[in-house]
Amino acid sequence: MLEIKAISTFYGHIQALKEVSLEVQGGEIVSLVGANGAGKTTLLNSVSGIVPPRRGEILLNGQAITHLPAEKIVGMGISQVPERRQVFGELSVRDNLVLGGYLRLRRGKKTAVTQDIERVCEMFPILKERQNQLAGTLSGGEQQMLAIGRGLMAQPKVLLLDEPSLGLAPLLVREILDVLVNLREMGTTILLVEQNARAALEISDRGYVLETGSVVLSGKAQELITNEDVQKAYLGRVNHKRLETRD
Ligand code: ATP
Repeated sequence: MLEIKAISTFYGHIQALKEVSLEVQGGEIVSLVGANGAGKTTLLNSVSGIVPPRRGEILLNGQAITHLPAEKIVGMGISQVPERRQVFGELSVRDNLVLGGYLRLRRGKKTAVTQDIERVCEMFPILKERQNQLAGTLSGGEQQMLAIGRGLMAQPKVLLLDEPSLGLAPLLVREILDVLVNLREMGTTILLVEQNARAALEISDRGYVLETGSVVLSGKAQELITNEDVQKAYLGRVNHKRLETRD
């Protein structure tokens, strides 16, 4: 469904991705594993058109999307849930969801958007309960659910998720990952970046390991979990520095 062919992405003259290739088949959850600064977010931003690659190609169902504007890429079925759940705090939960469906709203499909809000609220009952509350007053976990819900409002074929469990208590991490498994069952294809690499690989079909902008290893998620190098580098101790900065 998603094919990334030898992309190189730069910030000015800093090269963040070096000829990265990967693919995500329809209905898969694929995890990107890597240390801070390895290029995981840049990879997602390259796919969604926020930071287009300078070289290489990105295809969605065989169609090149490499240099399309981000809005067009959303319209074609790729939706990104950014890191640190950037919800619109001054807007209600419901209005945040409406915004997620704005491309269709603009095409006059108000009923479809309303139905999707219902669907998202079924998936996340807490959002239904809190629909009229300001998004900024939700707890961290609730805001993450809203961020995912908003991403789903664009009816994506492929959902790009950047650190959905960041800052969440273990129980909520589990809940978010369970939601991803449900989404896969409903046919959504997922490319997942997650600091909590073990938990991410456990629900993934396959994974890629990124090191300083290059893919150094890829394989079935179960194989990566049992790979000694991966265990040592990414699945060992909890990253305490990261935990201390959690909200
Ligand atoms: P983390 O796990 O810390 O979020 P990451 O794997 O997602 O890290 P990226 O955020 O993609 O890594 O960063 C890859 C490299 O690109 C890093 O060296 C980073 O400093 C650099 N970089 C990221 N964003 C920018 C930017 N806007 N301008 C310049 N350099 C950037």
